Amino acid sequence: MLFDHCAQCQRCCNVDAGYPSLDITLTQQEEKRLGSICITTRCDHLGDKGCTLGDDKPFGCTLYPLSYNPKKQNFYFDADCPLMDVYIDSLSDSKSEASAHMAKVSRTLAKLEVTDLAYLQENYAIDKTYFDLKKIKPKKTKPKKSTQKATL
Ligand code: SF4
Repeated sequence: MLFDHCAQCQRCCNVDAGYPSLDITLTQQEEKRLGSICITTRCDHLGDKGCTLGDDKPFGCTLYPLSYNPKKQNFYFDADCPLMDVYIDSLSDSKSEASAHMAKVSRTLAKLEVTDLAYLQENYAIDKTYFDLKKIKPKKTKPKKSTQKATL
């Protein structure tokens, strides 16, 4: 499975020596639940088998290795993630894990565009400064506007 690699890699949950610490951007709801998450070297929530928060991990972590610019409704991929080529190739298969990930984050992005646009703007601004973002053009990626309240 594509994302099985993440539990071993853990690169995105660690900050290399010499790099500035990384504040994970949190939605309004996540701030209430988690307070803050700042990675100086290794995320406090990272266990031997991956993130200990499971499905409660911040949306920014679920979105990664993608990044999303809400102003232009463009998706990007962090070129430092070793999964980039296989992820992008897999998007042509609607039943792939990459397509399922893209669909899942697109649904949440659509809700956040309505309920927490400031979060999306801040998340993209941080991603831009921190990651090596490459623009990607997946099919049917632009989240549709939603009037539903996000439950994040
Ligand atoms: S919250 Fe979980 S997924 Fe996010 S950086 Fe920390 S360990 Fe990684």
